Amino acid sequence: MRALVYHGPGQRAFEERPDPIILEPTDAIVRITKTTICGTDLHIMKGDVPTVTEGRILGHEGVGIIEQIGLSISNFEVGDHVLISCISSCGRCPTCRKGMYSHCENGGGWVLGNLIDGTQAERVRIPFADTSLYPIPPDTDEEALVMLSDILPTGFECGVLSGRVQPGDTLAIVGGGPIGLAALLTAQFYSPAEIIVVDVDDHRLDLAKTFGATWVVNNSDGHAVEKVMALTNHRGVDVAIEAIGQPATFDICQSIVAVGGHIANIGVHGKPVVLNMDKLWSHNITLTTRLVDTVTTQMLLKTVVAGRLHPDQLITHHFPLNQIMQAYDTFGNAQRERALKVILSND
Ligand SMILES: [Zn+2]
Ligand SMILES: [Zn+2]
Repeated sequence: MRALVYHGPGQRAFEERPDPIILEPTDAIVRITKTTICGTDLHIMKGDVPTVTEGRILGHEGVGIIEQIGLSISNFEVGDHVLISCISSCGRCPTCRKGMYSHCENGGGWVLGNLIDGTQAERVRIPFADTSLYPIPPDTDEEALVMLSDILPTGFECGVLSGRVQPGDTLAIVGGGPIGLAALLTAQFYSPAEIIVVDVDDHRLDLAKTFGATWVVNNSDGHAVEKVMALTNHRGVDVAIEAIGQPATFDICQSIVAVGGHIANIGVHGKPVVLNMDKLWSHNITLTTRLVDTVTTQMLLKTVVAGRLHPDQLITHHFPLNQIMQAYDTFGNAQRERALKVILSND
């Protein structure tokens, strides 16, 4: 089969690899029909994720058809159309039993395209398939569902749920990339009164407005804090969602959070940040961190099938899987290419 393989920082190739085989009775082999590229894959390509070693097939998102199942699989059959979760979970260890699948103690968690070969390939081996795949109802738009492998649950769980967004809240989302926009879409389940999106790219900010942002702030001049404070009568925001993962964007969040507010971090941080406890110690705020557990995937799937949520809005580009090298170039120059999510089709 053909697959996108990481060969060290800055080096990738679309090349021939052996088809995956069943290794454990809990495995399934899925023929990928649609997959995508994540911002995390770009971090990997820069060498920021040391757990990814040379020769790894990347990708942790996608949908497909089951081709083979291990002996102990009971929820699925060959031929089933399935959504792949970016988080694999045994469903039985103490951490999984707490709903913290991202920290599964039996070899699950974020393993796809990280510790084991991933989904940017014609086929993938899915461990713990019974508890890591979701059946796709008939006549569902499978491209929209690719957004449910990672970005929708991530924006929702790490941003909206951890940030405890309430009706009437003033919410700021710092970062208007796919994850920030996924938080924007799902925050609206809770009817916040104001949603301010901060980014440096006017195209993304325009999209944010069409997705439900009430205000957008372009931070190219570095004055986002003053602008957000002016928009909130110098009160600040009830919830500040960090959707980039840099010290500067974290700093915006801690500077705009109102008393009693919440900072919900989603961003993957590669460097330490300064936490301004000298200002925040008395402000009754909470700060949360989380790796997505994908505990809300089933709920999000229902809202998409019911037409309440339209994650296909996040898809800007389509490529056949055999043009994935070009797709990486497009996604890697997101601002110039006006790219959010790219869909790669293997048909
Ligand atoms: Zn991802
Ligand atoms: Zn587990």
